[in-house]
Amino acid sequence: MRRRPGGRTVSTRLYWFGTDLRLDDHPGLRRALAGTTRLLPVYCHDPRDAAMTPWGFARVGGHRQRFLAATLADLRVRLEQRGSTLVEVDGRPRDVLPVLARSVQATEVVCEAVEQAESLAEVDALRGAGIAVAAVWHSTLFDPQRLPFPLHDMPRHFTPFRQAIEQSAARAEAPLPMPEVLPPPPPVPPALSGSAGTATPQPWPGDARSSFPYHLPTHAGGETAALAHLARYFSGPLATAYRTTRNRLSGTDNSTKFSPWLAHGALSPRRVLAQLRRFEAERGASDGSYAIWFELLWRDFFRLLVLRERQRSRAAAPAAVAPPAPLPDAEGAGSAATRDAFERWRSGSTGVPLVDAGMRELAATGFLSNRLRQLAASYLIHDLGADPMAGAAWFASQLIDFDPYSNDGNWRYIAGTGADPRGGRRFNVEKQTRDHDPDGQFQVLWGAA
Ligand code: FAD
Repeated sequence: MRRRPGGRTVSTRLYWFGTDLRLDDHPGLRRALAGTTRLLPVYCHDPRDAAMTPWGFARVGGHRQRFLAATLADLRVRLEQRGSTLVEVDGRPRDVLPVLARSVQATEVVCEAVEQAESLAEVDALRGAGIAVAAVWHSTLFDPQRLPFPLHDMPRHFTPFRQAIEQSAARAEAPLPMPEVLPPPPPVPPALSGSAGTATPQPWPGDARSSFPYHLPTHAGGETAALAHLARYFSGPLATAYRTTRNRLSGTDNSTKFSPWLAHGALSPRRVLAQLRRFEAERGASDGSYAIWFELLWRDFFRLLVLRERQRSRAAAPAAVAPPAPLPDAEGAGSAATRDAFERWRSGSTGVPLVDAGMRELAATGFLSNRLRQLAASYLIHDLGADPMAGAAWFASQLIDFDPYSNDGNWRYIAGTGADPRGGRRFNVEKQTRDHDPDGQFQVLWGAA
């Protein structure tokens, strides 16, 4: 906080955007705006995202890069429309944010609280460098402090978690409105203002078979397309039919397709829920609309479970800094046989047509239906005996809706190593094929029949 020559107090904050790339219903941004006369919105392109995994593929593949680039471009426009800007910088947050914050004399960096080892380590490093950081948890429907049970006693299985919520008076908070005007950004020295925003990944020509054609304006990355899609989805009967259509293997409307926008934070889950409730009030609640709520609750469950476990481990060892999740070494990458099996799985050449079709779709489009994610994961783990971490890393590289909580939680659930293990989930390929692709249409579509 300092005084301008005319006597007015200047208070500058930096908002560090991460996986919360929107303006609507944004508690973190609200926190950053309180009493702030100048706000600098920043996004860091972390060089670790350009690294390779131990299994020899890019940590962040082309589909994800393109969807993120579109999301950032849209956020920049929306910020500019409100008198602000977006500074994109190359570098690890711990390296670039202190320099930026000091150069604009920011009193505080505000960001989303993310309970993942890498993000926690960056925030710790910033604080260690003397930067005040306010990390705001805002990625769930339910505020962790307003659950019908203390977070550390949260049920570790989904059904009792859901029942405890449904049987209580707990309600998700209403979404916050979008700010109409933002404080101007402070001047940033050109050497610090970055050039990453101008580096655009190779365009994707699209694939007519895609269930999420993100090269089209209707499915583009960013809040603008997200809000338009949300409005369109609930303007007709799709939600009512959701329960019967959600297990179809392809199609743009068989399921809600909110996930790529939710994963980037371009869409707020509370905004989705508010639209769902409005839809139910206007058109009537149904099995379909209930099933959407049910799935959104799975998303909350995986996030809150991670938060619960970390809270418990901090309470058990308050001085311990959570170590980053170990990346497997060459040993961890598996034996030659399982590595070979993994490669066949990854490239869609296992010889099992439905699995291969799904894996080809994933690589070609960056999207895969929930049913095929389950089947593909189960096949890798339980039939091929390969490393689930390798599979999860491949999904993380390819999925435009990659979300560490949901990806990790679902892989663990199927492997039987998560907090809700139920001994793992093994899907029978023949049965799945009979039930979901009886005439082989999907297999033919992806050249796997
Ligand atoms: P819908 O069926 O319309 O569901 C509505 C919303 O509910 C979704 O957008 C999503 O936010 C949430 N949801 C639905 N199913 C799940 C679920 N099983 N777990 C958590 N949330 C759910 N989802 C991701 O968003 N990111 C991931 O990285 C991811 N990885 C997965 C990995 C595996 C092995 C499996 C089996 C599932 C994974 N999922 C992941 C969950 C699910 O497959 C996707 O959320 C869903 O297919 C996205 O399509 P949709 O938006 O049309 O979902």
